[in-house]
Amino acid sequence: MKILTPTVALERVTDITPELLRQMDIDAILLDVDNTLAPPTDKTPYEGVLRWIDEMKAEGFDIVICSNNFNSRIKPFSDSVGLDCVAMSLKPFPFGFNRAKRKLEEKPKSVVVVGDQIYTDVLGANLAGMKSILLIPQSEEHGFSIKLRRSMEKNVRKKLKIMKRGESYVDK
Ligand SMILES: [Mg+2]
Repeated sequence: MKILTPTVALERVTDITPELLRQMDIDAILLDVDNTLAPPTDKTPYEGVLRWIDEMKAEGFDIVICSNNFNSRIKPFSDSVGLDCVAMSLKPFPFGFNRAKRKLEEKPKSVVVVGDQIYTDVLGANLAGMKSILLIPQSEEHGFSIKLRRSMEKNVRKKLKIMKRGESYVDK
């Protein structure tokens, strides 16, 4: 269970504050895209996301986008929000995180993975010895593979009481 448990769970990416990251001893963020920053097929970020990215940068946090989606989706999106990226990162395997870390030149302990999926973002972070922040998926999802992963997630989210919007969880 521990391997599937995030360090912190929040509703939206914009709920992450500089104060929280400092408490977690974080100075770099590896950011998921689909259902974290924007709807899976949409170029337009969710409300407040651009402002949040600017604020985090201004507060001194390094950010690299790290997504399992294709370069044709991730590169234009990352360019539009002004961030470096690693596409096809194969989360939960460590390859993409390692590529992103090379862009950051940070030690693993100072990096947090932020995303909406337990079996990619959280599991990957735990396998790589990184902290993680799990979010509630913000858009409706379609397709067999994501529905399968969500049904696998359901029990874990239930156990950690992070099923519903507004519920938050912090690993003590
Ligand atoms: Mg996602």
